[in-house]
Amino acid sequence: MANISEKLNEEYNIQVKEELESGYIYLAMSAWFAERTLNNLAAWFNKQAEEEFEHAMKFVNYILDTGGKVEYAELKKPKGDFNNILEILEAAYEHEKHITGRIHHLYEVANDLKEYSAFPMLNWFLDEQIEEEEQTAALIDKYKGYANDFNFDHHIKREE
Ligand code: MG
Repeated sequence: MANISEKLNEEYNIQVKEELESGYIYLAMSAWFAERTLNNLAAWFNKQAEEEFEHAMKFVNYILDTGGKVEYAELKKPKGDFNNILEILEAAYEHEKHITGRIHHLYEVANDLKEYSAFPMLNWFLDEQIEEEEQTAALIDKYKGYANDFNFDHHIKREE
């Protein structure tokens, strides 16, 4: 496999931070739900956080496999106070759109540098972001169908 360029290495280290922060954000959301015994939503966001940490490791492993240097950055404190469920779901959706924008940016950088070895993994992330946005938007739609938070929580189940 080709060696990673300095520029893409730098961008991937930023992305490692973005993915870890995503996980951190979802852990804070999960705690908010757990504190209100909305346990299925807490589990849903906990699983989401785990996936984000896996995303971070995909970038870490790519950097290591291509002779780059991993640099972990300081993580931003996640927001822990929310007024209601909808505020959390909409924040999660907005966050996923932000991450999609980041993946598009990485794609552009790799393309400009003709760093084609980066494409297969970035393609995986493009697909993943379609799913992430879709499932978060689906939660918002579902929530709007329930008048009661516990009733909504009762109907939350993750496929995997
Ligand atoms: Mg992610």
